[in-house]
Amino acid sequence: MGRTSTPRVRKPANAQAFTRKLLAWWARAARDLPWRRTRDPYRVLVSEFMLQQTQVSRVAEYYPRFLERFPDLDSLARARPRAVREAWDGLGYYARARNLHSLAKDVTRRHDATLPSEPDELIKLPGVGPYTAGAVASFAYEKPVPAVDTNVARVLRRMFLGINGKRKTDDGRLWALAAALVPKSGKRAWKFNQAIMELGALICVARKPRCPQCPVRPVCRTGKARRTDATG
Ligand code: SF4
Repeated sequence: MGRTSTPRVRKPANAQAFTRKLLAWWARAARDLPWRRTRDPYRVLVSEFMLQQTQVSRVAEYYPRFLERFPDLDSLARARPRAVREAWDGLGYYARARNLHSLAKDVTRRHDATLPSEPDELIKLPGVGPYTAGAVASFAYEKPVPAVDTNVARVLRRMFLGINGKRKTDDGRLWALAAALVPKSGKRAWKFNQAIMELGALICVARKPRCPQCPVRPVCRTGKARRTDATG
């Protein structure tokens, strides 16, 4: 999701109830994924690059193998392009592997092998867009910043704007909404960003949102308007 502009938006009236319900659901329903057990910036970064265009189950399979071969930024920076490609083999979209390799060299050279923690710095690195910059800042450094990918954008559109279709939404407006919603405490922001993404991946799915099973339905503009007996 590109961030086109950043208009200010007021925190919606149902924001608090949304966050409370979302985090309660997260506590009981979150999947235990390897990249959620770490705050190591390199490991978070690798998972985010892999997840950009690949399903979670496939990433879960390749992620530990890649980390075994390249356990840190330094080892990746020193690797030959062919070795990086081999380790990425099976995940496809090799431009991601090339960008990750360039990033490792860049950070090793210019940032003393330490990934920056602020989205404004992260976004200057190869292959890092607004979402990945926000995700690494939040998931590795627990910064209270938004991270809007397609799952999150879909939840925000349906939940707060009542848009359940292909109608275009201004990316800037969604980022501003996410920024207004994200908790100020970094630990809670980490959970919030993970949880809203998880809701988009498991419940508020693209084709047929599972409103009857949705924990935030009582406060959702789209969910409330759908028939109560709707199953999809
Ligand atoms: S109630 Fe339905 S539309 Fe609203 S967030 Fe949940 S699944 Fe999505």
